[in-house]
Amino acid sequence: MKNSIDTDMIIDSKRGKEYDTANQPLYYSTAFLRPSLDDEEAHLYVRNSNPNREKLEEKLARLENGKYGFAFNSGMSAIAAALMTSSPGDHIIMPGDMYGGTYELGKTILKRYQLELTAIDQSDLNNIKNAITENTKAIYIETPSNPTLKVTDIKGIVEIARKNNLITIVDNTFMTPLGQSPLSLGADIVVHSATKFLGGHSDLLAGAVIVNDETIKNSIQELQVVMGMGLGTYDCWTLSQHLKTLSIRWKKSTENTEKLYTFFKTHEGITDIYYPGEDQLHLSQANHGGAVISFRIKDESKAQKFVDQLNIPLVSVSLGGVESILSHPKTSSHKALTEEERQAKGITEGLFRLSVGIEAADDLINDIKHALDSI
Ligand SMILES: *Cc1c(COP(=O)(O)O)cnc(C)c1O
Repeated sequence: MKNSIDTDMIIDSKRGKEYDTANQPLYYSTAFLRPSLDDEEAHLYVRNSNPNREKLEEKLARLENGKYGFAFNSGMSAIAAALMTSSPGDHIIMPGDMYGGTYELGKTILKRYQLELTAIDQSDLNNIKNAITENTKAIYIETPSNPTLKVTDIKGIVEIARKNNLITIVDNTFMTPLGQSPLSLGADIVVHSATKFLGGHSDLLAGAVIVNDETIKNSIQELQVVMGMGLGTYDCWTLSQHLKTLSIRWKKSTENTEKLYTFFKTHEGITDIYYPGEDQLHLSQANHGGAVISFRIKDESKAQKFVDQLNIPLVSVSLGGVESILSHPKTSSHKALTEEERQAKGITEGLFRLSVGIEAADDLINDIKHALDSI
């Protein structure tokens, strides 16, 4: 009988066989005994494979409903590997609102290797069709997008990609595998910044790639091993531990987000709310709105005063922690853009993005209400 994901994240198939402990031991070794010299299956050298990474990668594949999972030493190295399965001269269609690091990667390093990346608004599928050229190899998606949570039609893009013999890559960081399952919708590669919800405790830098196709798997594995992009042993162990509580953390965070959404709708100090919880397209490909919500305060000149009044959310960058994290895109993640570019994306002084943690919803609401009422 097949267990549910919740159970599989906790019970280790090797418990009681290879070890008699609640948790998998930490194999803090760089080299592994190989008594049989031609044993190709056994672990040998830490960069190639090791028991803690193997365990974690099994979990990542299981979570994303894929055959092969890979643990990377950051979200960026996972994304780099996914994009570097292409060859010089290939063209990749990117989202207009892509993560800043991904944009940098394309503009600097990948460009040097003659990969051509075009960023377009993917909310209209016609834009995608029009952007396909003879050398297009892949379409890269982020949905919902950052920070205004715009939704892209994964299935619609997969359909276009298949007709044109392209692969589809999805950055699923914002929804987690529990909220949205791109491989099940036909995507070829899923990437994650596991630094966010998968890790969940704001203590770990990690990334993940999950695939089904054997050829793509070989290519990802080669990049991971040859370029030394695999996640370190201790972090593999920690991430495996943190994944045990992903389901319960995610449930509480998404429930809290819905409550905050209801509150934001009623507060007159808030002018705009960005949250895909009622978006039909989003709900056709995801279970719910997720745990990130952005909003604009009415008096935009009071942004600093607003954060000064807050006690609960961590005012910072990043997302996906057990603690709520409030970020101010204009002065952090989107600081490098010109004022004009920011205006076009709706990133104004009064815009905040809240990654909702697992605190008591009422405490969060009261804290934000107090701050809004005092400005
Ligand atoms: C954080 C993030 C990344 C980059 O991941 P790192 O773990 O910081 O390298 C990529 N995509 C999204 C959507 C992110 O939020």
